Parts: sequence; structure tokens; C-alpha cells
Amino acid sequence: MAKDNNPNPNKFRISPWLVYTTILLIFLFISFVTGSSSLQEPAQLTSSKFNIYLEKGQIEKVIVYNKTEAEVFLKPEALKDKEHQRVAKDIFDRPNKGPQYTFEIGNDQIFQTKLEKAVTEGKLKDFNFVAKSNWSDIVISLLPVIIIIGVWIFIMRKMSGGGAGGGGQIFSIGKSKAKLFDEKTDVKTTFKDVAGLEGAKEEIQEIVEFLKNPEKYTNLGGKIPKGALLVGPPGTGKTLLAKAVAGEAQVPFFSLSGSDFVEMFVGVGASRVRDLFKQAKEKSPSIIFIDEIDAVGRARGKNNISGGNDERENTLNQLLTEMDGFGSNSNVIVLAATNRADVLDKALMRAGRFDRQIFVDLPDVRERAEIFKVHLAPLKKVEGLDLDFLAKQTPGFSGADIANVCNEAALIAARNNKTAVDKQDFLDAVDRIVGGLEKKNKIITPEEKKAIAIHEAGHATVSWMLEHAAPLIKVTIVPRGQSLGAAWYLPEERQIVRTDQMLDEMCATMGGRAAEKVTFNKISTGALSDLEKVTRQARAMVTVYGLNEKIGNVTYYDSTGQSEYSFSKPYSDETAQIIDKEISLLIESQYQRAIQILEENKDKLHELADILIEKEVIFKDDLEAIFGKRNFDKNLEEIVSK
Ligand code: ATP
Repeated sequence: MAKDNNPNPNKFRISPWLVYTTILLIFLFISFVTGSSSLQEPAQLTSSKFNIYLEKGQIEKVIVYNKTEAEVFLKPEALKDKEHQRVAKDIFDRPNKGPQYTFEIGNDQIFQTKLEKAVTEGKLKDFNFVAKSNWSDIVISLLPVIIIIGVWIFIMRKMSGGGAGGGGQIFSIGKSKAKLFDEKTDVKTTFKDVAGLEGAKEEIQEIVEFLKNPEKYTNLGGKIPKGALLVGPPGTGKTLLAKAVAGEAQVPFFSLSGSDFVEMFVGVGASRVRDLFKQAKEKSPSIIFIDEIDAVGRARGKNNISGGNDERENTLNQLLTEMDGFGSNSNVIVLAATNRADVLDKALMRAGRFDRQIFVDLPDVRERAEIFKVHLAPLKKVEGLDLDFLAKQTPGFSGADIANVCNEAALIAARNNKTAVDKQDFLDAVDRIVGGLEKKNKIITPEEKKAIAIHEAGHATVSWMLEHAAPLIKVTIVPRGQSLGAAWYLPEERQIVRTDQMLDEMCATMGGRAAEKVTFNKISTGALSDLEKVTRQARAMVTVYGLNEKIGNVTYYDSTGQSEYSFSKPYSDETAQIIDKEISLLIESQYQRAIQILEENKDKLHELADILIEKEVIFKDDLEAIFGKRNFDKNLEEIVSK
């Protein structure tokens, strides 16, 4: 998605090394406090050895802890004795300041008497009885728990993805992840960067105007709209429009995606919605932009069996309340974008929440030329490149596709060491985007090549002969992407499609398999994608568009998307059988029709296939040479002759 949610680079982040170092330091600290000042573990001593050392006058000081354990400090001169060699130095190889030994004293009264005697005899300098607090033992016993909690917090921080708003800490998981547009650092998009989309641009610009100058509208008693929903197919520039608003509105602009509300914890979505609106209200007037709102705004189900959608529904309910509920606030305008307005909850779409629905459709030929102009601007291209020609070659392309064509054309030109991008590079880029990458060195046997040529020639021949089939521009048997060959058409941009047009298209699609049947009397697996396409079309004719006589004027299409969750079909078993039969009949009749056309034009079919095998790519002119001029081409001439 076009959304850009950069976390703040200056934000404090926990590195795993910090965690490891902290744990290590804790260990060292504990060993320090539980051990001794010298960091050297005292050696264990037996009672008899202690008595010997005491007798020899080697002991300087004895400290008895809790009347049970004694620590023994030797005199510096005693450390030179060979017997004490192993405790003479600490771990840093310095003289060991002690205690050098430790031992269990047994009866404390007897031991004390012994020590007092030694002091009076001058064999011992000093001794002391102390009660040792064992807090270090408590720390040690708590250490595993502390480590587990530490690791858990560390994982939680990681999981919360370092979201904005609170440094991504576990405690800020309910905070909104919206990104506030920063005029200084973020790349500014303006309405000039959005080509075409005149109507949509006007409406959106008006919304910006509302916020900048609300009195102008409220003085007359009008209310500022609460929200606008941008609806349209992928890549048509909805996010781009929102970015332009961010760049031009001069009010705080919060942007986030519908999925940012969703987290693995229950209740987080609703709390994020609350937080988002709280932030936006604090900075009002402001704009909130929610991209892909269908992630949260999908219609609430009635027959929710699994309960799995509860979290999403809670989030949606919160969104509904914030947008127009008790205590909702003005001066915060919500913009949202989606590809699937049909599945959105009706309550979300009602006036008062999203007052305006702005439809952002696929660009028409004029708009495509304008989009080309925007995206060609940064390219080094040949003089006099015809934008209208490029626009006509790209029917059904979205703005994103066109941006991709321009980029791909530049890459192709660079690959061929050209100094400027020319028309052919653009045509190659279109082929590349529609058909995928050319695979010239794919291994294909001569028989396979013949079969592919016949198949593609079949498509070409049938579509040439049918009035409503899309005009053909080229046929190729160079493998590209998933396909082994392709026939390229320039479909008419129709707003409504009639039955005969659909049937002609289905017939042309079946032309490939029909040609195999006519030529080899055998069919192959090569027609899979054709069959898939025809079956989909036939099913749509019967069950969606009500174009089948037997089924009648009935549609089983559910625009709310509710039926996706139900197990039952909206029709009876009997109707299901009729549907299956009608779909099969439709496809079969078009297959037979294609066979008949090809039988009648068998010579031309084979001639075309031979040229295809030889040249691998043939254009409309080659077809014309074989079949003569196509009678039905009304506007094709001016499209392709350019
Ligand atoms: P989706 O529904 O998939 O989120 P979208 O409608 O939000 O898609 P954008 O992200 O706005 O699509 O568009 C993608 C890219 O397509 C843009 O970054 C831009 O380069 C290009 N584009 C789309 N429409 C236009 C346009 N009208 N003018 C110029 N560029 C466009």
C-alpha cells in the first residue's frame, strides 16, 4: 500500500545487546555482593586446619556470620606460606585481601571461647560476631522470575512493532498508530500530482476548504461534513488524493491503515479508535485518513458462529460512535479509502458519518493521457512522444499501472543502452506488464510449438470473424510469464455489456481449444486459463447478471458480502442443477460455434499458424493480409494506425 508509516528514527529502541549486557551485569553484581570484595571465592577449611593456622598465629581476623559460618582473613606474611599459595592471589592476580577461607564453626560458644583465648595469647588480632542479612539470597531466588519478566517485556515490545504514539511499549498498545503528517520532513504531494480525477479532486478540495474556512459555510446554517469515503478499484489514486490533502490542507493530518487497529489482543482496536479521535480532537481542526477501511468497516454479521469477528465489530462500533454518536465532535473530518465499498457496514456509510462518497474510477482514455504526462515528466524520452497513442494502448490500466509502465519503459531503454526512452520501449513495457516476462529460452518441442501456434491462431481467427470480439492487435507464441503464447486485444471501453457481446467474447476465448480440435482432433491442457475465464463469464451471466432465460431475471449476487460467512446457497438444489446445466450449455454452444467458424476457415487458420511459427510475433497487418479487412472495426483504425 501506498501508506508510509515510518517510525521515528530518533526514537529510543531496545537493542537485544542491551538486554544481554544487563543480564550479565546482574549476574556479576550478584556474585559481587554474595561473594567478597576480592571477587575471589574463599576456600573451604576444616576445623582442624583452622586450629593449626590459629596456633601458628597466621590468622589476622575472623568474622562469624549468624553464629554458623566463619570467614578467615590471613596475615599478609602468612600468604607467602606455600600452604596458602592457592588463596594468595585474587582473580586479577592481585594479593587477596580476604577472606581467604571460610568454614562452619559448629558450637558458637566453644568457638568464641577459643577465639578469645587466641586473642589474649596474641595469636589472633581480632574477631567479630555479626548477623548477616541474606537479602542477596532473596535476590538470587527471585532472579529467574526477574529474567522471565524481562524477557516477556522485551518480546512484547518487539510484538507491538514499535508503533508510534508511545514508543511501542507494551503499555501503549492501545494507543493509536496513526502517523501525523509532518510538513517539514514528509514528501509533499499536491493536487497537481494527481492527474485526471477532476470530480473527485473538486470534492476533496472542497473538504480542505471547509477546514480552512469553516465560517463561510456555517454562517449560512450549513454543517461541515464529517467524512468522505473514496471508493474505487486498486491503484486509481485514492491514497494519492489523500496525500495531496495532507500536503495542502495546512491542518494536522493523521493517516493510518484499517489494519493498524487490529492487534492480537482483544479490545485494542476500540481503544486505538478512541485514542485516535482524542488526539485528532485535541488538534482540531484536523483530518484523519483511514486507508483500506474495509479491514475494520466490514458489515457486522448476524449469524456470527465462530465469534472470531467480535474484535473487529467492537472496533467498528467504536468508530461509529466516534464519528457520529453521543458527544461526537465536529471539526475532525474523516477521509477513508477502500476498494470494497460493497462490503462496508451500512451504518458506516450513512450520511452523518461518511456524508460523501467519492467514486474514483479507472481512468478513461483522456485521463490516462494526463496520468502519462505526470509520470513521463521525470523521464528522458524522445521528442514528440504521442501521449494519446500510449493512452489508447492501455485500456483498463489504472494510474498505478501507468506509473509502472513508465518506469518499466525506462528500465527497458536502459537495458538496451538507449539515451532516451522511445515508443517501442513503452509498448514493450505494456506487454511486459500485461503478459509477464519474456522467456525466450524456455524449452519447447517443435510439436508443442505447433500446438501453441494453432491455439493462438484459433483465438485470432475466431475473434477476427466475430463482430463483438475485441479487436486484435498482435499474436505471439513467445512464452511470457505463465503463458506459452498470447493474443493481444484492445478491448472497447464499455460501460454496459450486452448478451451478444459476452457470447462473442466467450466464443473467441474458446477459439484456441476449438482450433486444436479442428486441426489435431485432440485437445490439450493448454486451454486451462481460457476455460477458467469462460466458466467465470458463463457463471456470471447465469447467476449474477440474469442473462439466462431458464434462470430468468434473478441474481444471486450479494453486494453486502454477508453470504461469504454463510454455509447455505441462496438457491435450491434443483436450481443449482439448472445453473450447472445452463453454464455448461452456454460454454458448449460457444465451443461448437468456434469449431464451426474454424472449420469454415481452416486454410486461413493453418496459414496463420505457419506464419506464427516462422515469425513468432504477428501483427494486425499480417492478419489483414490473410483475412482481408475486418468489417466491424469502427474506431480501431484510428486507434492502431497512430
Ligand atoms: P489501493 O486501493 O490499492 O490502495 P489506491 O487507489 O490507493 O490503491 P494509490 O496508492 O493512490 O492507489 O496509487 C498508486 C500509485 O499510482 C500512485 O503512487 C501514483 O504513482 C499512481 N497514480 C494513481 N492514480 C494516479 C493519478 N490520477 N495521477 C497520477 N498518478 C496516479
